[in-house]
Amino acid sequence: MRKIGSVFWQLLFPRVCPVCGEILKKKLTEGEEPPFICPACYAKLQFVGENGCMKCSRPIPEEDEYCEDCKKRKLVFDRGRSLLLHDENARKILYDLKYRNCRDNADFIGCEIAAQMGDSLRIWNVDALIPVPLHPRRQLQRGYNQAERIAESISYWGKQLYGLSLPVVCNVLFRTAYTRPQKELGAGDREVNLRSVFRAELPETLKRVVLVDDIFTSGSTLSACAEALKMAGAERVFFLTGSIVP
Ligand SMILES: [Zn+2]
Ligand SMILES: [Zn+2]
Repeated sequence: MRKIGSVFWQLLFPRVCPVCGEILKKKLTEGEEPPFICPACYAKLQFVGENGCMKCSRPIPEEDEYCEDCKKRKLVFDRGRSLLLHDENARKILYDLKYRNCRDNADFIGCEIAAQMGDSLRIWNVDALIPVPLHPRRQLQRGYNQAERIAESISYWGKQLYGLSLPVVCNVLFRTAYTRPQKELGAGDREVNLRSVFRAELPETLKRVVLVDDIFTSGSTLSACAEALKMAGAERVFFLTGSIVP
């Protein structure tokens, strides 16, 4: 039944490439399988890979271990990885996911993160994925949390591709204040703006967790979330994001 439903769904709403918008040609019975992007656009994407900063994954000169930013600042998360450099293609995929209701774009980001970072997830040995929460009012306006959509896709594909058990846990980290969009603020204001915005209540079973968000800009949001989680008893906090601003 689900399959028949899915066939009709695809006739009505064919999956399109998140970059160029072309309809992705595939057999109707393939359902929610990749590819989630056309080959030409995939070839244009800039993947971050695993040779960047040991803490934030940002690309750095080969001889360095950490980026200038991580050397200077105290970011509370332990380490993390991002999928894409935030160039114009990444910006389009994530902007459309966040503001234009293109929820399918999370399938591409999550599947690709799982495919490329399954080894890191296994080494980190984490108990759960925790999406960075929106304020309830903003989530109501948007109808969904883009970070949660990405986390669900990582969880699904982590299981399919690597047999990893990565439950998405949404009821342990809360955004308690309604903040102005980060992009309207300078870096200094961001830290102030974000302090005490997040609160966490963590069960005993969650000690090693991965924060999931769409974009790593300054790292302040992820650091504030990590701080709240560590205050609530987390021992290790990692992160995965769709893109990172170089
Ligand atoms: Zn395309
Ligand atoms: Zn760094």
